[in-house]
Amino acid sequence: MSTVFENISLFNHEQVVFCNDPLSGLKAIIAVHNTKLGPGLGGCRFYNYATEADALNDVLRLSKGMTYKSAVSGLNFGGAKAVIIGDPSKLSSELLFRTYGRFVQTLNGRYITCEDVGTNPDVMEWIRIETRHVLGLPVHLGGLGDPSPITAYGTFIGIKASLKKLTGREDLTNVKIAIQGAGHVGYHLCKELHKTGAKIYATDLNTEALNRVIQEFGVTAVKPDRIYSQKADIFAPCAMGGIINDQVISQLNCSIVAGAANNPLEDEEKHSQALQEKGILYAPDYVINAGGLIDAASEFFRVRHKEYVMIKTEEIYQRLLDIYTIAEDKKISTAAAAQQIAEKRIYSMTQCKNLYARRDKTVQGKR
Ligand code: NAD
Repeated sequence: MSTVFENISLFNHEQVVFCNDPLSGLKAIIAVHNTKLGPGLGGCRFYNYATEADALNDVLRLSKGMTYKSAVSGLNFGGAKAVIIGDPSKLSSELLFRTYGRFVQTLNGRYITCEDVGTNPDVMEWIRIETRHVLGLPVHLGGLGDPSPITAYGTFIGIKASLKKLTGREDLTNVKIAIQGAGHVGYHLCKELHKTGAKIYATDLNTEALNRVIQEFGVTAVKPDRIYSQKADIFAPCAMGGIINDQVISQLNCSIVAGAANNPLEDEEKHSQALQEKGILYAPDYVINAGGLIDAASEFFRVRHKEYVMIKTEEIYQRLLDIYTIAEDKKISTAAAAQQIAEKRIYSMTQCKNLYARRDKTVQGKR
C-alpha cells in the first residue's frame, strides 16, 4: 500500500491539507497541486466515497486536472481542488460549510473554492461568510451563479468542434449522442443539444434527474450499464471520473468521446492511446469542460457579463481543433497533445516570472 507522501509525490503536489471537525462532521481534503500560474482555483466535491483512500486519490487527480485546465485555457490560475467526504443528503449543513470555509481561509488565498459535484451556489454563500476565497456565488452576492450551464455550453461547443474534425460538418441534426449523467451539466447539455435536433440517449442513477430530461427534451432513456454500448456518434460522459477503462473501451459503439466529466479515463495515457487505436476521437476533459472555470475566473476579475463568458468559452472550439491537428502531426494522442500545450505554457510563464525576479534584483543592486 502506498503512503500518503508517495501519493502526493506521484503528481508533484505542493500541499495537501486534511480538515477534520467532529462537531460539524466535516472531513475534507484540500489539494493544492501547482500555483506557478496563480492561486489554485477548483471546485469542492461533496461525495460519499467508499474509502478515504478513494477520496484522496480523487482530490489528487482532480487538482492536477485543474492545473492543466487553467494552463491550456490561457488562464492565470493554479490547480487545486477539495473533497468533502460523506453523504451530502445527510451531512449538508450551514455549520459544515462554514467550518469548511474557515479551513479554506487558513490557506490565505492559495486555494479558491467553488462548486463541483454535491455543492451549489447556496452553499458557496455560507462559505463566503468565513472566507473571501470563494467563487460561484449567487447573483445577489455579486457572483455569476451556477457554472454548470456554461460548462455545458463549452461541452456543446467542443462536441461541435469534434464532429467538424471527424466529418467536416458541425450540424447536429439527427446526430446520435449518448450521455452518462443528467445532473447539473448533463441537464444543460441536453437542453443545448435538443435545440439542434440531435437524437439524445441518456442515463442517470437518479430517476428524478433522468425523468426531467425525458420530459423536457424528449431524451430516450438507457439503462446505466447499457450506455457504453449504445450505438451513437458521440459518447458524452457527464457523471463521475475513471469510467473509461479497458472493458468499457471494448464496449464503446461511437466515434467521438466528448463530455464534461473530469478525469473520465481511468489511466489517461493508456486509455487515450487505446481510444485512438480504436479510431475514436477523444476530446481531452480539461479542455472541453473548461467553461465553468472560465466562468469562475471571470467572477474573480469581477467581469459579470455572461456574454463575455460565453465568448471566452467559445474559444474551446478552436482550442480543440488545434489539439487535434497537433496530435495528428506529431502522431500522439489528443490527451498527450493537450498536456504538451499546458506544460509549455506553465514553463514559459514561469520563465517570464523568473525574468521579472532577475530584473527586480538588478534594479535593487543598482540602488
Ligand atoms: P451532478 O452531481 O449534478 O451530476 C452528475 C449526475 O451523474 C448525477 O445526476 C448522478 O446521479 C449521475 N451519475 C453518477 N454516477 C453515474 C453512473 N455511473 N451512471 C449514470 N449516472 C450517474 O454533477 P455535475 O455538476 O453535473 O458534474 C458532472 C461532471 O462534470 C463531474 O465529473 C464534474 O466534475 C464535471 N464538471 C462539472 C462542472 C460544473 O460546472 N458543474 C465543471 C467542470 C467539470
